[in-house]
Amino acid sequence: MIYGANGFLYFVLNILEVHMKPIIGITSSIAKDGSVNLAQAYVTAVTAAGGVPVILPNLAEDGDVERLASRLDGLLVSGGVDLDPTLFNEEPIPGLGEVAPERDRFELAVLAKFLAANKPILAICRGIQVLAVATGGDIYQDIYSQVKEQPLLQHQQKAPRWHASHFVDAEPSSLLHEIAGARRFKVNSFHHQSVRRVGDGFRVSAISSDGMIEAIESTRHRFVVGVQWHPECLVEKNDAPSKRLFEAFVRASEKEI
Ligand code: MN
Repeated sequence: MIYGANGFLYFVLNILEVHMKPIIGITSSIAKDGSVNLAQAYVTAVTAAGGVPVILPNLAEDGDVERLASRLDGLLVSGGVDLDPTLFNEEPIPGLGEVAPERDRFELAVLAKFLAANKPILAICRGIQVLAVATGGDIYQDIYSQVKEQPLLQHQQKAPRWHASHFVDAEPSSLLHEIAGARRFKVNSFHHQSVRRVGDGFRVSAISSDGMIEAIESTRHRFVVGVQWHPECLVEKNDAPSKRLFEAFVRASEKEI
């Protein structure tokens, strides 16, 4: 026999690992009443795509963040309130909304661990803004008071969350374009902040017709994608690009031998 008893067991476990569902950490917010908060739609979308979701609290200790990150296979940075502009060396302008310092700190820390380990990241809405700032880019604190060059679309839609309200154009040959399987598709929109500039090693992968950056991705990592919209709310209406995005993320998070 080629393997000893333990060696053979290890070999079998490794084979099984290929088909083991990846554990996907999803960041959360702290609600006004003090409870940890996450919309069920994220959990449902990750589960439907074949992942095992786990809700992450905003840990403060760097050692704890490191240990947590080492146990997770993929990271979903979820939506939420605004980013503290001093994180990208700006003073707060009047159009800035509520901020969440503990959450900023945790998400920047856990993103750094995932980026260093080249583990898959899907960053949604607030998440794309945290991802941009974590990787040397910056954001508009409030597009409606800061963008004067062109008229803007309604990016804070009044339609239901599952309704795709405006178009985006994926950049040819981007990972997002490949995953979505379409150059132009519709997305929902619940933001007043937006990525302004991407850092080194990142590219813009989708824009809206008013020129706002709607998606970014890393050119140096296996799977690091940020989208300004909320694909988890479109999955329930069988939106193909959203389902493909979650499936691609979960598949990328599966362990390899
Ligand atoms: Mn939008």
